[in-house]
Amino acid sequence: MTHAPESPELVALRELHRIVLLVNTEEDLPDVLRTAAQGVVDVLGFQAVVVNLVTSRGDFEAVTVLGPPHDALIGARSTRESFLEELALADVWGRLRFVPEGRRTSELDPATTWTTSEPAAEGPDAWQREDALYAPLHSTDGELLGILSVDLPHDGQRPGPVRREVLEMYAVQIGLAISHARERERLGERLRLGAATRKILQTAAECERLDEILESSVAPLQEAYGGDRTWIRLFADAGGAWPAVNYPAGLPTDLDAAAERGVPSSLSRLDTRRVLASGERVAWECWRAQHTLVVSAPGPDSSAEHLTPSGRQRVLEWLTALGHEQFVLIPLGVGDQCLGYVALNRVDAADWTHAEEQAALDVGRELGRVIGTSRLRARETELIARLEELDDYKSKVVTTIIHELKNPLAVVMGNLELAREEPDLADRAHTAIERGAGRMQALVDDLLALTRLREPAPDAVLTSVDLSAVLHEVASLVEERVSSAGITLDLSGVTPGVSVLGERDELDRLALNLVSNAIKYNVPGGTVSVTLTPHTDAVVLVVSDSGIGIASDDMATIFGEFDRSSNPEARAKPGSGLGLSIVRRIVRRHAGTIEVVSRLGLGSRFIVTLPA
Ligand code: ADP
Repeated sequence: MTHAPESPELVALRELHRIVLLVNTEEDLPDVLRTAAQGVVDVLGFQAVVVNLVTSRGDFEAVTVLGPPHDALIGARSTRESFLEELALADVWGRLRFVPEGRRTSELDPATTWTTSEPAAEGPDAWQREDALYAPLHSTDGELLGILSVDLPHDGQRPGPVRREVLEMYAVQIGLAISHARERERLGERLRLGAATRKILQTAAECERLDEILESSVAPLQEAYGGDRTWIRLFADAGGAWPAVNYPAGLPTDLDAAAERGVPSSLSRLDTRRVLASGERVAWECWRAQHTLVVSAPGPDSSAEHLTPSGRQRVLEWLTALGHEQFVLIPLGVGDQCLGYVALNRVDAADWTHAEEQAALDVGRELGRVIGTSRLRARETELIARLEELDDYKSKVVTTIIHELKNPLAVVMGNLELAREEPDLADRAHTAIERGAGRMQALVDDLLALTRLREPAPDAVLTSVDLSAVLHEVASLVEERVSSAGITLDLSGVTPGVSVLGERDELDRLALNLVSNAIKYNVPGGTVSVTLTPHTDAVVLVVSDSGIGIASDDMATIFGEFDRSSNPEARAKPGSGLGLSIVRRIVRRHAGTIEVVSRLGLGSRFIVTLPA
């Protein structure tokens, strides 16, 4: 049995059917293009077929090449303009465009085109060596996706109407195939980025602290956007509530990476600093406009709006120093506030797609929200802690005041009664009343002083205060107490005429409090010695006593307000626990320091250093 030879039309139809099937089932675009191009070779009898696709940068790239020009052309890129110029010269053959030999005025670019060296056939419809036939490839909504070019017809003839129509059908199917593949790619990318965004936010939302949020975001950000290096910078807030934060901390220099490339490390360090210095302004601009900034060595670049040409150049040099090709800045923010940015460096200047930009902006907004919430939480915790502290302080003040007033008040009341009922004892009662009132007065004085010293130092008019004279005055004030306690007060170590710049009243109180304590916490027959020594840039005042001393556990707390040492011997003496806290404040307001050296039972030494 013999088969009737199949008609060329049937073969072409079958081939076309195969391609339609492929277009709808095959995932891999290069495979589809190769099969379709092979169909053009087999069915339509062109020996050379090239498919150029529009890249995301807008130019054309030869992706499928069959026939003799194979090796030379694959991957060749040509500009969109050069293609459109060529098509403008063409005769319109339905969907096809034909440029006959001799129409061109300029030479073709040998890097992206190919001409046969075979001699042309004879006849009026013979295919000439420089003839070119193009089938533009469109998406369903008319977007130009690429161009199919054919050359070298087997029969040496320019194609007639039937072959042209079949070629048109091929072109439509190839256009569809590309459309579908792109659609799938976009969908896949959107899904991938959506998942990545969710992952970033999920991880960040699980963190309590800001540094944890930043730390946890870097790896997924890097993974989602193919970054080789990622930095997050948060700006200090204008009101001073938040300091600037860098993650990773410190200046991101890549000295090792730069050194490997023979770049002097000083250059890369300098440029990193300069590049990131303009980041704040750029990030604010990007946040307002809701877009990302991309600086790429080759390829698309959105920097023109934000960077001067020299600024852009600097970024590029810096990228080169680090061995990267692309810098992407994603602004972070909440509402109309830009909080900072994520900076990504990519090794290759990959296309930064629209989907990536949109997903990155989503990350910027959502991460901004998480950061904002975390800051509010931190502020809240801090405020609560401060309120609790204040509450504690208030209770302590009230308790101490009540306690400290109760005893002298009881003394006053008891003795008033005594004086009234026993006139003979009135003198003794009056003395006791005076002592009680004196203690109340001292407490009120201390409280007033403390309140005044709590406020920041006013623009005090500092005067030169003769500290030696202050100490002698204090000695005369405490003379009675010294002699009644049988204590020796030694001022022989006070160098005369030593002055400091300060507040007279405050320095009086400082000296009085220290000397009074040295007497109060002394033992009968003990000594108190005061020395005052001038040095080149400081004056050192030392008040030593041979008293009960301070346990090492108490040393850290005795300067606190209302804090008294745990030693029962010390607590038996009247006191509010305010004297030393007043002293410490005065010392600080005079830019000085205070230290204490003491051993329980062996006396104490308070050393105050004030700038001369
Ligand atoms: P107050 O003397 O009113 O208790 P201060 O603030 O002056 O308050 O002192 C805090 C505590 O430090 C005192 O209660 C006392 O226990 C201890 N202290 C201060 N000075 C001396 C000193 N020279 N020797 C021993 N203990 C001292």
